[in-house]
Amino acid sequence: MQRLQDRVAVITGAGSGIGLATARRFAEEGAKVVCVDLDEPTGAKAADEVGGLFVRADVTNEDDVVAMYRTAFDTYGSVDIAFNNAGISPPDDDSILETGIEAWRRVQEVNLTSVYLCCKHAIPYMQRQGKGSIINTASFVAVMGSATSQISYTASKGGVLAMSRELGVQFAREGIRVNALCPGPVNTPLLQELFAKDPERAQRRLVHIPLGRFAEAGEIAAAVAFLASDDASFITGSEFLVDGGISGA
Ligand code: NAD
Repeated sequence: MQRLQDRVAVITGAGSGIGLATARRFAEEGAKVVCVDLDEPTGAKAADEVGGLFVRADVTNEDDVVAMYRTAFDTYGSVDIAFNNAGISPPDDDSILETGIEAWRRVQEVNLTSVYLCCKHAIPYMQRQGKGSIINTASFVAVMGSATSQISYTASKGGVLAMSRELGVQFAREGIRVNALCPGPVNTPLLQELFAKDPERAQRRLVHIPLGRFAEAGEIAAAVAFLASDDASFITGSEFLVDGGISGA
């Protein structure tokens, strides 16, 4: 018996990076995977690869979020795991003195409001089942801030962390665990794009990581699979750092 045997897992941002690696890992561990993404080609490819279901959704749109869980439930009969992971990187100059209100709002919408919507509409399924595991992707910057001027991004991830703590406490007695995943820098298209614009930033980051390298997405997926599984049955409302030691340095 595998750890996630027949659990129904909905993963947002499953077409790329951490979401894609987690879709692969969940499928290996026996889950039925619903791959959600705004980008149809990559999301559909991921679903095809893991033998799961693709649902195109914009996680900032409440109707889309409602529909993605309904599709998961109608197809597979439950919603056991919600990995609320879709997100975007900071705008180009994200210092508080430069970031405009529209750029700020966009980052909050995609990185934070989406997690509110995904939790709000996953929890009722889990309440009816009397169990469930929600993992929300925050970031190490939610815990320690960032010296590289990314105020809208850091604030959005701080919100994800605080929301996860509150929901973890609030729904614990109903068998629903909620945790914030806090990755350090991970070698994904999101990070590659950021560093392509500012190569020095990559070097600055690297020197602060005690393990001396960026994470591979599969290393983050391993932590998500743990949090999703019964191996993490006593973990809720936590910040789960997978950061190569960066927050402790
Ligand atoms: P990525 O860009 O490789 O993948 C993000 C996916 O989310 C893409 O497939 C994209 O199409 C999808 N997406 C974006 N907006 C969406 C929307 N509105 N609706 C549905 N799907 C949408 O990024 P990644 O590096 O895998 O990042 C995943 C998460 O991890 C993000 O929340 C990111 O902030 C967080 N994170 C990343 C790092 C890192 O270094 N890569 C570190 C800490 C946290």
